[in-house]
Amino acid sequence: MQLYNTLSAKERAELIEAAGKERLTISFYQYAKIENPQELRDALFLFWDSIEVLGRIYIATEGINAQLSVPAENFQQFKDHLDTISFLKDVRLNIAIEQDNFSFLKLKVKVRSKIVADGLNDDTFDVTNKGVHLNAIKFNEILEDPDTVLVDMRNHYESEIGHFKGAVTPDVDTFRDSLDIIEDDLKEHKEDKKLVMYCTGGIRCEKASAYYKHKGFKQVYQLEGGIINYFRQVEKEGLENKFIGKNFVFDERRAEKISDDVIAHCHQCGKPADTHVNCANEGCHLLFIQCEECAEKMNHCCSEECKEIIALPYEEQKKLRKGKNNSNKIFKKGRADYLPYISKKE
Ligand SMILES: [Zn+2]
Ligand SMILES: [Zn+2]
Repeated sequence: MQLYNTLSAKERAELIEAAGKERLTISFYQYAKIENPQELRDALFLFWDSIEVLGRIYIATEGINAQLSVPAENFQQFKDHLDTISFLKDVRLNIAIEQDNFSFLKLKVKVRSKIVADGLNDDTFDVTNKGVHLNAIKFNEILEDPDTVLVDMRNHYESEIGHFKGAVTPDVDTFRDSLDIIEDDLKEHKEDKKLVMYCTGGIRCEKASAYYKHKGFKQVYQLEGGIINYFRQVEKEGLENKFIGKNFVFDERRAEKISDDVIAHCHQCGKPADTHVNCANEGCHLLFIQCEECAEKMNHCCSEECKEIIALPYEEQKKLRKGKNNSNKIFKKGRADYLPYISKKE
């Protein structure tokens, strides 16, 4: 029985291309009490691996959070199988707006202590006591209400390239920081203001809305299924799109375009740009926004220093990296003091 990946990402990409199959990029989550996460993990891995599902899935005793891609022809099998698991029956599947066969290159199913790193102690409040879920129509409506405060529950590098018009976008690196800042900003308005929140696919708002209710907020709302699901409804039902820019996503695609506006700036020259890249120096790998001209001029690097390093023979670069671990910078922060145009809050 093979319970783990054996192929490299590159080998996997070659296989996908050779197979020539359309894939669907999907995400879903569910808070539920899972007694034995490891058992579920192994069962899901075995079945999903057999139908060529790829992706990144976290399972904890509090639930499951999955981002994955499924060959289109196996979608029904995938869905039928989910329906056999009681707490996943009819779970809402967010299907990505922009499809890309290479959104995921491996299947990684991991048991974690939590399905979202939220920095919160679960025992302090009831996660199932969430806010009122809003579909796109209701969400658009509530944004017109002068008593509404709209809050983006994502991190700074996500809201930087796209957000809802008029949203408060906390300048934070973590979800935990965001919770505190918003609570402090609104502490005088726990009863009279409508606290409306959104995130990428809805999962962060499940926690946040329950948290704010626990903290005494009386009118708490959340965008059902997040930006991904909102845009689907906007397109399908011909609604007004109140989101500007790109939706940052946590897979190889990095972002999907929701409107044609480019609201961010190249971190190096300041001109309008909203493409996230990783610094080409493997020992750095900083995630930042770079325009095409700067990419060319800087040889895809974030700094002169990194540019010098990648000009060295590979063996020497490896020596420089020894003992340093930068692999986690990929989706981290996107901030560096030496980048002159890190977007300032307006
Ligand atoms: Zn530039
Ligand atoms: Zn760099």
